[in-house]
Amino acid sequence: MKIPKKINLAFLPTPVYKIEKLSKELNQNIFIKRDDLTGVEFSGNKIRKLEYAVFQALEENAEVLITCGGIQSNHARATAMVAAKLGLKSHLVLRSDSIPYPKGNHLLDMLVDAEITYLSQNEFQNNLEFKMEEIKKEYEKKGIKAYIIPLGASNGIGNFGYYNCMDEIIEYENKNNITFDTVICTVGSGGTFSGLFLNNLINKHNKKIIGFNVSNDSDYFKEKIEEIVHESMDLMNIKIEFSKDDIEIIDGYVGRGYALNTSSELEFIKKIAKSEGIILDPVYTAKCFKGMYENIKKDRFKDSTNILFIHTGGLFGLFPKADEFDF
Ligand SMILES: *Cc1c(COP(=O)(O)O)cnc(C)c1O
Repeated sequence: MKIPKKINLAFLPTPVYKIEKLSKELNQNIFIKRDDLTGVEFSGNKIRKLEYAVFQALEENAEVLITCGGIQSNHARATAMVAAKLGLKSHLVLRSDSIPYPKGNHLLDMLVDAEITYLSQNEFQNNLEFKMEEIKKEYEKKGIKAYIIPLGASNGIGNFGYYNCMDEIIEYENKNNITFDTVICTVGSGGTFSGLFLNNLINKHNKKIIGFNVSNDSDYFKEKIEEIVHESMDLMNIKIEFSKDDIEIIDGYVGRGYALNTSSELEFIKKIAKSEGIILDPVYTAKCFKGMYENIKKDRFKDSTNILFIHTGGLFGLFPKADEFDF
């Protein structure tokens, strides 16, 4: 199957291994794919999508990468780092009502001299696309080509990052003589799930792809993911029918809201850290892992022989939350 070209930025393939103690505790085989190890500066899932988006940007001779996200956006940080590596400029539109003292991902953005426009919560919600277009026009007035990467690089092109990841999973299975019947990932802007889903659909891998959303709700993401999958199919010049109901997103783990935490989520991060030596991030993977954990306890995955959890990264977002933990 022909998919768009990419540049190589991430350290791939990422490792896969069994989480022994938790598998025993829950009486279910749980494996983890460490996509938090795609790099240090680039770490996490966004770099896979950026490999495709940035290829496109370079094809169009862009000198500036414009993107957006929360103040602790992993995606914005990965974009800023890629821009630095490739000698491009990055311009980030970050959601924040004030200009905070830089910490975590935001600190890394500052280190590589990313240009930052801060938007209030309200403006970010209502005016984001317009603002990014406006910034692009400002550059173009000066004769500088800019390329806009949407939120989380979750569009038809960025989608191939996790299409590619599914190929990697299949290669691992063939090499190690194992089958993962269920693949679990966090859903934040939808592009990780949609890439896995698209590959699974086209190549008939017959896996259950399960997402846990950390913002909005499952209905919102079913629409969004359907749209991204169709965009990618257009780029591939194919059309495969599927129903929105094939998209399985499990609601109920947003907690207090996007990027906000409850004490039980933070305790869960401590539990997994202590029992497995794996650090989950507070915004995405902790909520998803907790969802997986609780659903295994409820026997939701009892038909699965081997579950694969994708650790999508986010470590830098943990440090600014240090004072929320109860030690
Ligand atoms: C962005 C992000 C996600 C969510 O992935 P989407 O493709 O946006 O749904 C999950 N985990 C981490 C650490 C992220 O930064």
